[in-house]
Amino acid sequence: MPDEEQINLFDWHESETVAETVTVTYAEISTNAQAPIPQGFYKSLEELTTHCQQCQRCDLAPSRTHVVVSRGNPQAPILIIGEGPGQQEDETGLPFVGRAGQLLDKILASVKLDSQQDVYICNIVKCRPPGNRTPTPDESAACKPYLLEQIRLVNPKIILLTGATAVRGLTGDKRGITKIRGQWLTWQNYLCMPILHPAYLLRNPSPEPGKPKWLMWQDIQVVRAKLDELLQSP
Ligand code: SF4
Repeated sequence: MPDEEQINLFDWHESETVAETVTVTYAEISTNAQAPIPQGFYKSLEELTTHCQQCQRCDLAPSRTHVVVSRGNPQAPILIIGEGPGQQEDETGLPFVGRAGQLLDKILASVKLDSQQDVYICNIVKCRPPGNRTPTPDESAACKPYLLEQIRLVNPKIILLTGATAVRGLTGDKRGITKIRGQWLTWQNYLCMPILHPAYLLRNPSPEPGKPKWLMWQDIQVVRAKLDELLQSP
């Protein structure tokens, strides 16, 4: 084949790729749960946040007060994923600010992690499920592309998955949280640790060895040690 024809073939492929990319619009993404969000679609977390705040991709949109996108440091080494906003989160627009969130901050502080500097916190779904029910698989799937873009843009060293819904929503792993908490998982080359949800600790406050609070203390120390190791490695 002559050189010129070969070069034309490359041109054809390139224009196809561009055409695929530009067919997804902001309006489609906001309203159609099937519309993909291509990797790299958002140039910044600010752009993602602005767009997410107008989202109507799933049934959670009509009853929300605020879309709850994140809090913390976008350059943090640890990204924490929860299930979804509760009442106080819905009212304030910030994740993990209720009693469970305050406990999470204390857990982090116990190993000298600052909840404003050292972590970026977000949820599987960005809008409150009515009555704090578990998000449905469809709701989680509709919201997941935003989460994937958040992970790409923050690019953390460690991801903490709080509770079974967070583990299932990100990795698809359906095992019970008490079976897999404290064990490192690898998802898309990210080091992830499932931990108990702080709300579970509020319902089980005993500090005795083997109880949830004690298990969390073991897990967060392992996370701290791993972070120190990763920050020291070149
Ligand atoms: S939960 Fe996610 S997908 Fe559903 S409306 Fe809110 S931001 Fe959009």
